[in-house]
Amino acid sequence: MKTGNVHLHYESELTDIEDQGNSVAAIIRNTRAGDTSSFVGSYLVGTDGSKSTARKLAGIQFPGHTWKERLIAMAIIISFTFMSPLKQPIPEEKSLPEVCGSDTIRRCRPEELTRDETLYTFFEEVLSDPRSFDIWIKERSVYRTHQRLATTIRKRYCPLTGDASHSNNPYGAMGVPPGILDVGSLADARLMILLEGKSNYLLTPWSDARRKVFQYFLDPLTTATLLRLKYPTAASAATDDYFFQGRQNPTPDTLVKEGRPFLEVWGTDMRALAQGYDV
Ligand SMILES: Cc1cc2nc3c(=O)[nH]c(=O)nc-3n(C[C@H](O)[C@H](O)[C@H](O)COP(=O)(O)OP(=O)(O)OC[C@H]3O[C@@H](n4cnc5c(N)ncnc54)[C@H](O)[C@@H]3O)c2cc1C
Repeated sequence: MKTGNVHLHYESELTDIEDQGNSVAAIIRNTRAGDTSSFVGSYLVGTDGSKSTARKLAGIQFPGHTWKERLIAMAIIISFTFMSPLKQPIPEEKSLPEVCGSDTIRRCRPEELTRDETLYTFFEEVLSDPRSFDIWIKERSVYRTHQRLATTIRKRYCPLTGDASHSNNPYGAMGVPPGILDVGSLADARLMILLEGKSNYLLTPWSDARRKVFQYFLDPLTTATLLRLKYPTAASAATDDYFFQGRQNPTPDTLVKEGRPFLEVWGTDMRALAQGYDV
């Protein structure tokens, strides 16, 4: 931002893309005034989430499946934080945690999902003693989650990152980090193209590498996490599932082994990748 080269346009949405040969124009509509403007650049990076307009305009398909479970995300005010704090919890003071749940939801019609009765029943089910908590639900939203991967995440001038390119369920908190790793490796590729004379073709192995990360790491891992939380009863999971058994007696050795793919597989080293291609 300090360079003056970054400009933010609020209340604006991408409505069209024009391929101009060596450049690309993004057609943006101001959602308040309704007028449109055009911005031209070498690339248009689609970072607009799982329903990505950029992906659709680039004609890229998004195969996979949508989970039948619906999630309700809530911001609640509570006397003390017990889950995923949105700010530093202070004993005896009100704080703001994020809570997600899906158990009660299965029995609800869509219009019932975000009603107070539904949500307070959910808290009664998941909290050991809800009477000891004074809960006020501040915000509530219903989400569907997916396991989907774009058929390419680079169409000529339009690379895609984050949920626009791959989407997985959020159990295990593996939604935001892969998008950051997409952007980091894409930035490395762009710097090599701009400063070191590498060809634009470098974005093709980048797309292939990031798609493989989803296919062989993110998709199976996040699918297993959701199924692990959903199916076994608490009693059988503790004895039957190697993952929960491992949590009971972790050793430094097993923790390092389990953590290694997060360090070695999840990211993409563009410099190492470029060595395999004559670009
Ligand atoms: C209930 C829930 C809980 C989650 N919890 C976690 C968690 O704990 N940890 C975690 O890592 N991940 C979590 N996730 C997943 C995480 O939120 C997503 O993976 C992440 O937000 C994806 O980031 P993104 O920038 O790719 O897309 P998004 O966050 O979806 O951002 C896309 C942006 O593009 C904008 N946009 C859309 N269309 C247009 C258009 N045509 N023109 C201009 N702008 C447009 C949207 O308004 C939005 O601001 C959770 C998801 C859900 C649903």
